[in-house]
Amino acid sequence: MYGYGLLKGLRVTLGNFFGRAVTEQYPERRPFISPRFHGFFQLDLKKCNGCGVCSLSCPNGAIQVTSERDENKKRFVTGYKISLGYCLFCGLCVEACPRDALRFTQEFELSSYRREDFVCDLLEIEKREKICSREPA
Ligand code: SF4
Ligand code: SF4
Repeated sequence: MYGYGLLKGLRVTLGNFFGRAVTEQYPERRPFISPRFHGFFQLDLKKCNGCGVCSLSCPNGAIQVTSERDENKKRFVTGYKISLGYCLFCGLCVEACPRDALRFTQEFELSSYRREDFVCDLLEIEKREKICSREPA
C-alpha cells in the first residue's frame, strides 16, 4: 500500500512523543550507572599480593604487575599499571583475581587529550586518591 511505511514511522514517532522522556540531561545530571558497570579500576592494597594472575588473564596484555618478597618470603605488590588504551573492559582480570582485590568502579568519564593519561598507576591512585595522572576536578 502506498504510504504504509510512512504511517508505520509516524506511529513510532507519535508513540514516543507522548511517552516518557528518555533524554539524559548529562552532564548537569549524572545518569544512573548500574552497580555492575565496567568503569575504572580500583585496587585494594590490603588484599593484593602482586601475584600477577590478573595480568596473565588479560587478553591484551594491558596490566603490568611487579612484586617483591619480604624477609618472610611473603609477596607484596610494588607496582600496578593498567594501559586503558588497550583495555577492553572485558572484566577477565577482575574475575581472575583470587583475592578479590581488583574491582570496577562506576567512573566512566575516562577521556583525555593526553595519551599518557591512559597509563594508570593504581598504586599511586590508591595513595593519592585521584584518577590516572589527571588532577582532581
Ligand atoms: S589484583 Fe589480584 S590477581 Fe592481580 S596481582 Fe593483585 S591479588 Fe593478584
Ligand atoms: S578488563 Fe579485560 S582488557 Fe581490560 S585489563 Fe582487564 S582483562 Fe585486560
